[in-house]
Amino acid sequence: MFSLIRTGRSLEAITAASYAMVRYYALAPFSMNAIREPRTATLTVNEIYHSIQGESTWAGLPCVFVRLTFCDLRCNYCDTAYAFYEGEKKTLPEITSEVLKFDCPLVEVTGGEPLLQKNILPLMTALADAGKTVLLETSGAHDISKVDVRVHRIMDLKTPGSSECERNLWSNIQHLTRRDEVKFVIGSREDYEWSREKMREHNLSQRCHAVLFSPIFGRIEPREIVDWMLADNLEARFQLQMHKFIWSPTTRGV
Ligand code: SF4
Repeated sequence: MFSLIRTGRSLEAITAASYAMVRYYALAPFSMNAIREPRTATLTVNEIYHSIQGESTWAGLPCVFVRLTFCDLRCNYCDTAYAFYEGEKKTLPEITSEVLKFDCPLVEVTGGEPLLQKNILPLMTALADAGKTVLLETSGAHDISKVDVRVHRIMDLKTPGSSECERNLWSNIQHLTRRDEVKFVIGSREDYEWSREKMREHNLSQRCHAVLFSPIFGRIEPREIVDWMLADNLEARFQLQMHKFIWSPTTRGV
């Protein structure tokens, strides 16, 4: 009460200011923590492992994967549903030191959807600062513009057959650069034609480093997509999920 009298501010004004402050911090818990307390900022991590990169133009290279928990999409072909909820909170230094122990120059941040946790931004920066080549695999449903410019973004555009097509954040396209790759996961002729048209409409083969056409595993014969691509002379790269041929398709941590 003494301070109220001294400052001349009403109780309502002070309560409103306090509420606004609490709300501000509550809305941005991860990024504020990361900026203020980098040593105690955390991420919920599903798994960290060393394997062979199975997709993208980086396929075949040894890579450390940091798989984050949580995803707000439910693609009907999802092969990492175990990452929707399972995970353990770790501080950014804990994650970085676990990654560095593998002594591998390539690191991929994946999920789930990594961009749901804002502390992923300082983690990717820390990994790039440590001299790693950093890849980000993202669903394309969240803003990619705040990602460190040194990171190679591999962004999905969800096809109609995924059942999550309406979640594509089209404004992301303007942020893509020649470091980035766009992936279409295709399960039918309709998906293929949709992908081909989006690719042409947004000039993706010029805008990005690569456009990837990938079959939904077990839903479509890969050969069909290859035939269509050849018939259309498409400036895209066909890919298979290499890890599903090296190990059993349901093996985790590979
Ligand atoms: S965005 Fe990825 S992790 Fe999320 S549901 Fe789709 S395939 Fe699964």
